[in-house]
Amino acid sequence: MYDVIIIGKGPAGISTSLYTQRSNLKTLVIGKDKGALEKADKIENYYGFSNAISGSELLENGIEGAKKLGVQILTDEVLSISYEDVNNYKVTTKEGEYNTKTLVFATGTTRKTSNVENVEKFEGKGVSYCAVCDGFFYRGKDVAVLGAGDYAIHEATELVPLVNSISLLTNGAKKIELRSDKIKVYDNSVKRLKGEETLEAVELDDNTVIPISGIFIAEGTASSTDFAKKLGIQTENNYMVIDDKKMTNVPGIFAVGDCTKGLKQISRAVADGAIAGISVKEYLRNIK
Ligand SMILES: Cc1cc2nc3c(=O)[nH]c(=O)nc-3n(C[C@H](O)[C@H](O)[C@H](O)COP(=O)(O)OP(=O)(O)OC[C@H]3O[C@@H](n4cnc5c(N)ncnc54)[C@H](O)[C@@H]3O)c2cc1C
Repeated sequence: MYDVIIIGKGPAGISTSLYTQRSNLKTLVIGKDKGALEKADKIENYYGFSNAISGSELLENGIEGAKKLGVQILTDEVLSISYEDVNNYKVTTKEGEYNTKTLVFATGTTRKTSNVENVEKFEGKGVSYCAVCDGFFYRGKDVAVLGAGDYAIHEATELVPLVNSISLLTNGAKKIELRSDKIKVYDNSVKRLKGEETLEAVELDDNTVIPISGIFIAEGTASSTDFAKKLGIQTENNYMVIDDKKMTNVPGIFAVGDCTKGLKQISRAVADGAIAGISVKEYLRNIK
């Protein structure tokens, strides 16, 4: 059991880990990739660098420093998080499962908007972003999952025990081999969602029309908003809402950096991490 799992190995996540590790908390950082900094060629506005530094180099330096302190950092993708018990969350990744007393989201801004026509029109009327939350409403029905990655496969798997059939729509992204009686994979591009008041069908670019009652959007990687919906974390304009201690409305779950509202800059992400690291320590001390 970890004291804290931090999701994201950008400046916000790594900064948090420096404070939790130095407080002797059992800390695990899980990050998929280099996040926003990978795209930043030249950083000229961050304290302490008289010459410009690339985002990648700054990030590598940060990770190196955390490793020297003994922080455990995994390169992996988080697919789902479930509440097991009071102060016990299970984090499921592509490679494994980990339990933790507290969680820190440092997942950056990865809000995706689907390019499929009518997704917004049917939000709440057949379009869902959470298989665990909404799957029950579609029991015995025919549904679709939109996406081609591990996250989409995970969402489809969650639905298997509940629904009648699942059309996994890769939207032309890639071919998926999946063996399940209930899941049928369609590799064509998705043209549009169709229906009168509520969702009734999905149309592919070869004019195939698949009748469905619901579609679960799971394109790309699970974002902070996807996790927020599943865990009951309050959001505003797709950002996690936090208090002065960087805690969300769910006790023991914190959020830092670009996945929260406010300035999207490294200095702010690092400062958030420092505050959250100290707050996690206080939180754990108070529940003991
Ligand atoms: C092109 C560009 C230029 C920029 N230039 C500057 C600049 O000059 N100065 C400045 O101060 N700021 C700059 N920024 C902004 C800065 O990069 C961000 O504010 C900062 O990186 C935010 O840090 P973060 O840790 O919150 O998020 P990020 O750095 O985006 O890190 C997010 C982390 O979360 C991980 N993650 C997300 N979802 C999952 C999941 N499901 N499973 C596992 N891991 C996950 C990602 O892999 C990544 O490790 C720039 C940004 C861009 C895009």
